[in-house]
Amino acid sequence: MLQNSDFRRDGWGRRLGRTADFVGVTTYGTTEDAERAGARVRGIHRRLMVTDPVSGERYGVGEPGLLCWVHCAEVDSYLQVLRRSGYPLTDAQADRYIAERRVSARLVGLDPQEVPANRAELAAYFEEMRPRLTAGPEAREVDDFLRRPPVQPLLIPARDLLWRRVAALAYAALPPYAHDLYGRPAPAPAPVTHRLRATGTLLRRVPPHLRRQRPPKHIPRALSRPVPSPCPAPHKIPWRPSGPPDHPVLRRTMSVNQGTRAYDAVIVGAGHNGLVAAAYLARAGRSVLVLERLGHTGGAAVSSTPFAGVEARLSRYSYLVSLLPRKIVADLGLDFRLRSRTISSYTPVERAGRPTGLLVGGGEARTRDAFARLTGGAREYAAWQRFYGMTGRVAERVFPTLTEPLPTRDELHRRIDDESAWRALFEEPIGAAVEEYFEDDLVRGVVLTDALIGTFADAHDPSLAQNRCFLYHVIGGGTGAWDVPVGGMGALTDALAAAARAAGAEIVTGHEAVRVTGDESGAEVTYRTADGEGVAAARHVLVNAAPQELAALTGDTPPEPAEGAQLKVNMLLTRLPKLRDPDVDPREAFAGTFHIAEGYGQLATAHAQAAAGRLPAAPPSEIYCHSLTDPTILGPELAGRGYQTLTLFGLHTPARLFDGDNDGVREELLDATLAELDAHLAEPLADCLATDADGRPCIEAKTPLDLERDLRLPGGNIFHRALSWPYSQTDTGRWGVETPHPRVLLCGAGAVRGGGVSGVPGHNAAMAVLEQKA
Ligand SMILES: Cc1cc2nc3c(=O)[nH]c(=O)nc-3n(C[C@H](O)[C@H](O)[C@H](O)COP(=O)(O)OP(=O)(O)OC[C@H]3O[C@@H](n4cnc5c(N)ncnc54)[C@H](O)[C@@H]3O)c2cc1C
Repeated sequence: MLQNSDFRRDGWGRRLGRTADFVGVTTYGTTEDAERAGARVRGIHRRLMVTDPVSGERYGVGEPGLLCWVHCAEVDSYLQVLRRSGYPLTDAQADRYIAERRVSARLVGLDPQEVPANRAELAAYFEEMRPRLTAGPEAREVDDFLRRPPVQPLLIPARDLLWRRVAALAYAALPPYAHDLYGRPAPAPAPVTHRLRATGTLLRRVPPHLRRQRPPKHIPRALSRPVPSPCPAPHKIPWRPSGPPDHPVLRRTMSVNQGTRAYDAVIVGAGHNGLVAAAYLARAGRSVLVLERLGHTGGAAVSSTPFAGVEARLSRYSYLVSLLPRKIVADLGLDFRLRSRTISSYTPVERAGRPTGLLVGGGEARTRDAFARLTGGAREYAAWQRFYGMTGRVAERVFPTLTEPLPTRDELHRRIDDESAWRALFEEPIGAAVEEYFEDDLVRGVVLTDALIGTFADAHDPSLAQNRCFLYHVIGGGTGAWDVPVGGMGALTDALAAAARAAGAEIVTGHEAVRVTGDESGAEVTYRTADGEGVAAARHVLVNAAPQELAALTGDTPPEPAEGAQLKVNMLLTRLPKLRDPDVDPREAFAGTFHIAEGYGQLATAHAQAAAGRLPAAPPSEIYCHSLTDPTILGPELAGRGYQTLTLFGLHTPARLFDGDNDGVREELLDATLAELDAHLAEPLADCLATDADGRPCIEAKTPLDLERDLRLPGGNIFHRALSWPYSQTDTGRWGVETPHPRVLLCGAGAVRGGGVSGVPGHNAAMAVLEQKA
């Protein structure tokens, strides 16, 4: 701008007018007028060059990276300011606006496929760009100019009275990182939103016909300006919104041409497991195409910013990692780290009319004392050590087998080499062992919860579904520790997608597989995008989607459904709430797993009530605060002000309870769940909830039906289906990924030894492919 524009001499006139013309005509004008305006802008851009002030490099102003930055900054600021100024816009409408604005991106010369298509992609774009931004001398000069544009000396008081306020409010509305770049403190968001709201209300009272005349008559003028033969933008016309790209710009996003293309492997779904498989196969030199129906990669392992205008990147669904083998991280050279939590768990309870609780962690002596204080003796802690000593030995022996061909039941039994452990974990309902080892109801409950995560079962369920769930919760990493992914769960997905791409895999989003066919020699995937259908052929097709979805794709009989039974709540707090238990610091209590209404008796009652078709009267749940262990998920302003995230995972609320009235039951359940938490707090949680840019409380809840709709998890089951034993059974194949179709493999959580953020099914499917001769 500094090198090509005369804005310093004519700040109020031509340049501002031209920009307003373009926005006006692309917003209100006809298609033809917009094409004309685009042709004009592209023509101007073609003629202009700039010199990088640091490197001295010369390049055109039409360089896609620059255009995309301008486009995204413009779209984002219009949207943010509109919403913060009180204009009612739903999230879906905001997404639609961003998608539609890709038309104007095309008009300035960008490929719409490479431009963010929704809020999540826009946020990801800014996240990606932030490390590259600096406020150099030229930026500071523009900054200074905009705050105090030159005017006639007589008008200086008017400028200071009117313009300074407008400029100050516009600058205050910038995101906190922009203030950081200029070395200024970011203003608190709430007062800025308040001012924007007042200004928006005032401006919206100005009648539309007057509004459109400022800057002077720009819309009528723009629409009447003659231009010789409008030349359409170089991308397809008419443009229709299509499947949004995964990573918007500055990186090649593959758009699959219609027609058939052939690969060594086509992977349906870019969940973390699909990406693991893609990375292994591409590194082995195979050509790989990954088709993802959503607009982003990661499936249930993603980070996102669900609260408008709030810089908190939450692990929206899965949040802790235990089952991911270090071998996969090392094999794929992933730039990904875990951090362990200082506290394992805290469970508040009222005993003898006094609030107290059990804090596990912070060292052996401290844990022993905590047990003694709660239970009045040494017995329960001794039992705890024996029990987890037993599971630890099982973990050491079972975990390494997950990335090997499936052992038989006998082989695994021999490998574990501990009859009482085998009986407790593999043969009898886990309730028997819990009752045998422990006496205290609260301690029993804390142990049992690991058997019930995402699994609707009683402690004594003869199906042993609860045992399988328990097993996967205590064997991870050979220790059973659950750690915090640094940067949130999206950091893992991003690292995996980067590894797969770096090895040559093509990953396309907005591509939904609709049919899979195959025979002895290969398979084909028919996929659908907003532009139509295409076919990708491969030697192997790997399906990351759930087994139910696979059956729909191949036309096979679907497997037994296993509905999900959990509530997931994401929250952002201005501060951690104070606890009723005076002996525990909230920063410790919330750093581990904070159990609510999870006594052994309470869990049994909640299960019985839900099995009888009612919401549990005291819904059990567990909570944890990611930002205590890993504050990097918060923007600097929120972190500086002591904000914290809170994630809640509720148990025993099967999908069937939400049938018919998902919204109403979600609300009822959320209220009941938070009331259980409030019973242990010295102040209501609601007082600690942060608000978003629109003044709404930062809280979102997802029921099983929401997960089914958003992520295609059948019945909202977080593991795609009931977890399996980690040994071979009839039809499980060598790796546990085989299907009735020889060239079609499962590579997702629904495989044997699937479930959880582990990458194990992705690894095993890749091994199954690599073992086979082409
Ligand atoms: C609320 C919640 C909390 C959880 N918490 C944890 C936790 O803390 N720790 C943990 O280890 N696990 C947790 N889990 C479980 C874990 O997230 C999943 O088991 C895991 O993410 C499964 O990964 P995946 O790659 O196999 O499948 P998914 O993540 O489900 O990905 C499958 C992908 O396939 C895509 N797809 C589906 N159908 C098609 C189609 N027809 N065409 C193209 N693409 C398609 C989907 O869009 C999706 O991207 C949680 C899950 C949920 C939902």
